Amino acid sequence: MPISTPFLSQSAFLEGLPIIGGVCAATTEQVIPVLNPATGETITVIPRLGASEAMRAIKYNVEALQSWRCLAAAERAGMLQAWRGLIIQSRDDLARLMTAEQGKPLSEARGEIDYAAGFVEWFAEEARRTYGEIIPSARDRRILVIKQPVGVVGAITPWNFPAAMITRKVAPALASGCTVTLKASELTPLTAFALARLALEAGIPPGVFNVIAGDAPEIGSVLTSHPDVAKFTFTGSTAVGKVLTAQCATTLKRVSMELGGNAPLIVFDDADLDVAVAGAITSKFRNTGQTCICANRILVQDGIHDRFAEALAARVAEFRVGNGLEGDTDQGPLITPAAYRKVRDHVDDAVRHGARVVTGGQHHDAGELFHQPTVLVGATEAMRLAGEETFGPVAPLFRFKSEAEALALANRTRSGLAAYAFTRDMDRFWRMAEALEFGMVAINTGVVSTETAPFGGIRESGLGREGSRHGIAEYLELKTISLGLSGQVQA
Ligand code: NAP
Repeated sequence: MPISTPFLSQSAFLEGLPIIGGVCAATTEQVIPVLNPATGETITVIPRLGASEAMRAIKYNVEALQSWRCLAAAERAGMLQAWRGLIIQSRDDLARLMTAEQGKPLSEARGEIDYAAGFVEWFAEEARRTYGEIIPSARDRRILVIKQPVGVVGAITPWNFPAAMITRKVAPALASGCTVTLKASELTPLTAFALARLALEAGIPPGVFNVIAGDAPEIGSVLTSHPDVAKFTFTGSTAVGKVLTAQCATTLKRVSMELGGNAPLIVFDDADLDVAVAGAITSKFRNTGQTCICANRILVQDGIHDRFAEALAARVAEFRVGNGLEGDTDQGPLITPAAYRKVRDHVDDAVRHGARVVTGGQHHDAGELFHQPTVLVGATEAMRLAGEETFGPVAPLFRFKSEAEALALANRTRSGLAAYAFTRDMDRFWRMAEALEFGMVAINTGVVSTETAPFGGIRESGLGREGSRHGIAEYLELKTISLGLSGQVQA
């Protein structure tokens, strides 16, 4: 069934793709089909852009930068608030567009639009709080520190959160006075184009925020090497993040990286069973298991293991799986055949190595890219799913005996994004919070993301933080001004 939203039915939206400086910029006959992963149907086609369009987009950014950075912070904040207002006003249409191209259930898509709008609002407010400092110094000098926008920003975002991963970067960049060229994922470009169109409608001048999509390595190589791009920010896999970081070295750009995770979720014997099950469901199965902070390894202590496995499997077996645009669903499709294949391989490999399927474990007949929500017990470190992100609806349970054993197992990864622990012991709460080697630790909850808190990882999960008051610092340079003073108070 073809999807209809005002975004797709208005010719300005389709003809204006991609939005570069507010005008249609395609110079190529090549197109990319945008597919609905739930049905395999083509939603629409978009121009397949490359290096020359990326260069043009950067040129527009450079031209727009001077007047944008010179606006009063309150003026930029006003336009960001207007953008946020239009995003909220278009919530249902944006959510339908997102579900169509990404597959997540409509209720989750609506939630993501609110989450995405939350970043715009937060950074509109932060725009006016980029305070400097005056540092007491020698008798004849004063030191002033001011914060200035870094300049033109290149950004690349993934398909799993087609709106929020964009506003988490673009809102602080624009708030601080930077201009941005963003390459959206070719799998989910329509939500990105819709956001850019709403930004124009909100009064953000053409050229300040450009969105393109197409040949990823070609566009990526321009964004990471162009001398006019001062800062590069990426969300995606660790493997691609490393390549792009290396590319940025030639012009030594400021770099932020939000990369892959391998989150442990630890359930101790003293946990509240219901809270732990609810937390595991939220953390593991959001977006059909396709989030960077999804619990990838669920470590369960001996004494609670069997009750936890049974309760989790009972909840998971009740999930409604299907096309997010049709009726109430809890779980959608995987994004691509490769993503589906990886989930199948992880399950097969785990079973081969001795895991037992408690529920699920097979293809789901809702469509080609659907997999049954799955709970496995008997997972071990010999299995692929212990060392790689499964990025799908598979919850493997690892059994452990002691706190020390759980901690060692949890920390045994090169990733360091998010970790979860469930316990009612306050001392253990502190021990876990401090000893888990991750950028974010959630205790007794499956939720860590909010615009108000710093989001980011350590080790191979990335560099820098997004969200919170720290998120805008990624787009600001400190400048030191040394002010000489002469004379004394005149008699
Ligand atoms: P990916 O393959 O790294 O793709 C992410 C983005 O990079 C997409 O826009 C993609 O473009 C682009 N890309 C791919 N190869 C490129 C290259 N050689 N040069 C320039 N750009 C390139 O990651 P994914 O599989 O789509 O996304 C899932 C990964 O992202 C997971 O590892 C997940 O953990 C991570 N993630 C991290 C966070 C975080 O905040 N830490 C948040 C969400 C996701 P095309 O899609 O157009 O090919």
